[in-house]
Amino acid sequence: MMSDQFSIQTRLLHHKNKTDATTGAVSVPIQPASTFHQKGLDNFGDYDYARSGNPTRKALEDTIAELENGTDGFAFASGMAAISTTFMMLGTGDHLVITDDVYGGTFRFTTEVLTRHGIDHTFVDMTNVEEVKQAIKPETKMIHMETPSNPTMKITPIREIVQLAKDYDCLTVLDNTFMTPVLQRPLDLGVDVVVHSATKFIGGHSDVVAGLAVVKEADLAASMKFLQNSFGAILGPNDCWLIMRGMKTMHTRMNASSDSAEKIAQWLTGHPAVKEVYYPGLKNHPGYELNRSQSDGAGAVLSFELADRAAVKKVVEAVEIPVFAVSLGAVESILSYPAKMSHEAMPPHERAKRGITDGLLRLSVGLENVEDLIGDFKQAFNRIG
Ligand SMILES: *Cc1c(COP(=O)(O)O)cnc(C)c1O
Repeated sequence: MMSDQFSIQTRLLHHKNKTDATTGAVSVPIQPASTFHQKGLDNFGDYDYARSGNPTRKALEDTIAELENGTDGFAFASGMAAISTTFMMLGTGDHLVITDDVYGGTFRFTTEVLTRHGIDHTFVDMTNVEEVKQAIKPETKMIHMETPSNPTMKITPIREIVQLAKDYDCLTVLDNTFMTPVLQRPLDLGVDVVVHSATKFIGGHSDVVAGLAVVKEADLAASMKFLQNSFGAILGPNDCWLIMRGMKTMHTRMNASSDSAEKIAQWLTGHPAVKEVYYPGLKNHPGYELNRSQSDGAGAVLSFELADRAAVKKVVEAVEIPVFAVSLGAVESILSYPAKMSHEAMPPHERAKRGITDGLLRLSVGLENVEDLIGDFKQAFNRIG
């Protein structure tokens, strides 16, 4: 394993799988085999069947574990597969406390799938520790966090929630998709399970759907391994390779995009067409100091509110650079409309409660020239009049 003394920027490139042990190849080999020959009845190798384990997947799993300062990583067919497999640690009668502005797909899984299996939940404002405490019952087994939250970028006090969870003997899960281990390492703050949609910043190129989970404790690792193999929603070897390829530039991409996001957020703040800007890197954001105390940056996603749906429509149709799409975390900037995209699965009254209005747009900043991006929004805002 690479020495911990090196920064994540270096460890992204120089980790234990940086060269292939047999050939010295500087790219991890893609191993498509579904099964593995065993030397004898009493002499089984490391791999037997590819759902249980595959060397390309193992390389990715070890790399994400190392970057998150965990012991064991798990790669899944999607972020939702990583999250739902993690939630399978719960059983009938258990209760889940979950952040109220959670990712739409996680909302759907919690409200429409877990409930069918007798697993109940309470949505809370995860920034309010007292409210979280009130929601904990004797049956509560897990607390699920997402910070910054989507799309209003609220910041959860990770250390305080972890302490609360320890007091009540609950597992903590944190969806680290928006930050990546470049900007936030929740296991270091005491979180039990980190989950990712690697479809976003980790892969980074809008060309693969994948999920990851990381733990640092042996019992949890055994439990996740068992569930990954039982549920079977594993990531295929080609996609594992694509994620590892994307990860090599993750540090550079995250930092460049975050710098641009901050400039855009500042520019939006002064614009008369913009009612509200949500970006934790702005000094007037309520979670600014808290975010600085637990993360190495504010990330590359921001949201802003225009007057209404009509203004949104004009802007979306006038911008030339960002793609207008579901998703985030790519080399190209992505503009999305949460009310109709990521949060469509959420009923309108639930959306309203969370500030996901018809005027809200979310921008995931890519690698374009930031002045070009600002210029593009400027001309688009001019259409609103
Ligand atoms: C996209 C996303 C997910 C779901 O991941 P998929 O790879 O689309 O299944 C979960 N959480 C967050 C925060 C996301 O942005």
